[in-house]
Amino acid sequence: MQETPDTTVEPLFCGQLELSEPTCMMHHMRPIKCVAFEGTLTGRRFYGCPVPQSEGVNCGVTEWVDKPWHPILQNCLSRLWDMYHEQNCGRVVDKQKYEKHLAKLKTENDKLCIEYTKLVQDVSKMFDWQDGRVDHMDYQKAVEEEEFEKKKKEVEESARLEVQMEKLKLAKEQRCTL
Ligand SMILES: [Zn+2]
Repeated sequence: MQETPDTTVEPLFCGQLELSEPTCMMHHMRPIKCVAFEGTLTGRRFYGCPVPQSEGVNCGVTEWVDKPWHPILQNCLSRLWDMYHEQNCGRVVDKQKYEKHLAKLKTENDKLCIEYTKLVQDVSKMFDWQDGRVDHMDYQKAVEEEEFEKKKKEVEESARLEVQMEKLKLAKEQRCTL
């Protein structure tokens, strides 16, 4: 008994065998016509058990229609399948690499997003602080100006008083001389 190999859909060789012989080994059912699609068996026609693996035990190849291929063709098929598997592996590795790279990019992006948010917060804090400082400076300037005006008035006042005193003094002197 040979396990059923992978098969391919082949419209020229399909359907259930109509003859009563041969029948599958375990179930004695009319086998189905299949074409193998696996390694050196690729392309070989066979009659196989009609019971699908999902519905019980498939009792495998009932009978091969084609004899084994010429060894050279078998080697070629072998090489082709190897190439196919290698490429598939390469694709899997590439996919893994790509996914790893993608994950790295995502992490970097998340980090940048966090840094950016922090930066925005810092800048807005800086502006707030600067605004506060500007207000403070304006206030200080206003206070200084006010004080300056007050001093100016005081000086002016004292100057005015001095002038009046001087006038009074003069008036007094004039009166004395008269
Ligand atoms: Zn069977």
